[in-house]
Amino acid sequence: MEELKSKLLYAPKNGYASLTAEQRAEMESYCKRYAAFMDACKTEREATAWAVETAKANGFQEMKPGMAVKPGDKVYFNNRNKSILLAVIGSESLENGANICAAHVDSPRMDVKPNPLYEDAEIAYFKTHYYGGIKKYQWATVPLAIHGVVYRKDGTVVTVTIGEDDTDPVLYVSDLLIHLSADQMQKTAAKVIEGEQLNVILGTEPLADTESDAVKLHVMKLLNEKYGIIEEDFLSAELTVVPAGRCREVGLDRSLLGAYGHDDRVCAYAEIEPLLTMGTPKHTAVCILADKEEIGSVGVSGMQSQAFEYFMEMLCDTQGVKLSRCFANSFCLSADVSNAFDPNFPEVSDRRNNCKLNYGVAICKYTGSRGKSGASDASAEAMGHVRTTLDNAGVLWQTATLGKVDQGGGGTVAAYMANRNIVTVDAGVPVISMHAPIEVVSKLDCYMTMLACKAIYLA
Ligand code: MN
Ligand code: MN
Repeated sequence: MEELKSKLLYAPKNGYASLTAEQRAEMESYCKRYAAFMDACKTEREATAWAVETAKANGFQEMKPGMAVKPGDKVYFNNRNKSILLAVIGSESLENGANICAAHVDSPRMDVKPNPLYEDAEIAYFKTHYYGGIKKYQWATVPLAIHGVVYRKDGTVVTVTIGEDDTDPVLYVSDLLIHLSADQMQKTAAKVIEGEQLNVILGTEPLADTESDAVKLHVMKLLNEKYGIIEEDFLSAELTVVPAGRCREVGLDRSLLGAYGHDDRVCAYAEIEPLLTMGTPKHTAVCILADKEEIGSVGVSGMQSQAFEYFMEMLCDTQGVKLSRCFANSFCLSADVSNAFDPNFPEVSDRRNNCKLNYGVAICKYTGSRGKSGASDASAEAMGHVRTTLDNAGVLWQTATLGKVDQGGGGTVAAYMANRNIVTVDAGVPVISMHAPIEVVSKLDCYMTMLACKAIYLA
C-alpha cells in the first residue's frame, strides 16, 4: 500500500530534504550576490543602470539597428534607463523562437509629487503620491530613503540618494500617538493613514533672519548646496521614497531574506545572473527587466510597450526572420513572485493550492481575480513543458495559486506576453508580506528560481 501511495499520489516535500551540501553552498553564495544586488538597486532606474554596467563587464554589446550578430553574441537594449532587454544569440534561427524570461524591476513606493516642497507648523515636507498597491499605514514610522534623478533647466542631470549610507539622515512619515487615536482606531485599515497624509518630514530648523517659509528655505538651500538644484527643478525630477536599509538575513537559522522590493527584483536577479555567463544556447535566450508592472505594465517602459517588438525585431532582422514567426515559436516564463502560505493568515488561502516557503520555485497556471479575469491561464501543454524542463534540470518546484477563490487576486506581465502570441507560464519566488516595506523570501526558493530560469533559457 505504501508503494502504491508513493507511486500514485503527489507528495511535495520541503526542499531541504533533498538539498545537497554542494547545492547548499551554491545557494548561500548566490543569495549573497542577490543581497548585494538588492542593496545597489531599489528602483527600476538603478536596476537598469546596474544591468547595463554588469552586462558590459560580461561582454554584452548595445544592440543597434542594422548591427550584425552571430550565435553566442551577447546584446542588450537599454529602454530609456527604466527597463532593459538582454539576449544571448542561439545556434538555431530565431524562426524557431526564443526562450524568454520576463520579470519587473519596479516596486511599490511613494513618488515625490511634481510640486512637493512645503512647510507647515515650521516643519518642511515632501508631498508624495504612492505608486502601486500599498497598505498606506505600513509606510509610516519606518526609516525612509530618497532615490532618483533631477533634470535641471540646463539639461544636466543629477543623481540623488539620501538615507542609505550609515552616516546619512533618513526620512520619516508620522503616525498618530496611540494616546490620541480614539477616532483613528475606529477607522478601516484603508483609512488609518490616507494618501495625502504620506508627507515625508525633511527638516525643522528655520534659516536665520528669514520671515516666512524659513524651514522650507533651509531645506532647499541644503539641496541646492549638495545637488545644485532649485525648487522649479522638481518638475523635471523623478524622486522616489523607499524604505531605507539593506537586505538582511531573517530567522535564527538565517534561512530567509528580508528586504524592500523582493517583488520582483528577486526574479529579475534570478533571470539575469545565469544569462550573464551563458555559452551559446540552442534557442536565443532573452531576459526582460520591465518597468511599470505595479501600475498595469503601461507606458513606454512597461511590458505593453512596443519597445519589446523594437528589440526583438532588431534581432530578427539580422537573420531575415519575420517577428511574428519568431513570437509564434517562442516561450516565455513570466517570472514574478507568488504569495507564500502564511499560517498567521490561513483564511485567505486554499492550503492545497497555495505555494509554501522552501518548496522551490512556484509555478502558477493562472493569476487574475473573479473567475481568472486578467490571467493568461496557461494551457496543459505549456504547464507540461515547464514541468518536464524543470524536472530534467533537477529544479525543485511547486504549484501556486494567488489565494482563495474570490479573496482578491492580482496579475503579472504574463497576459501581455501571451497577447503577443507567445506561450507563457507564470513562475516565481513565494513571498511573505508582499508589497510591505520589508518583504520576506526563502533562500532556497530564490536559488531554485535562478535554476529554473537557467533551465528555461536552455530548453
Ligand atoms: Mn510582481
Ligand atoms: Mn507586485
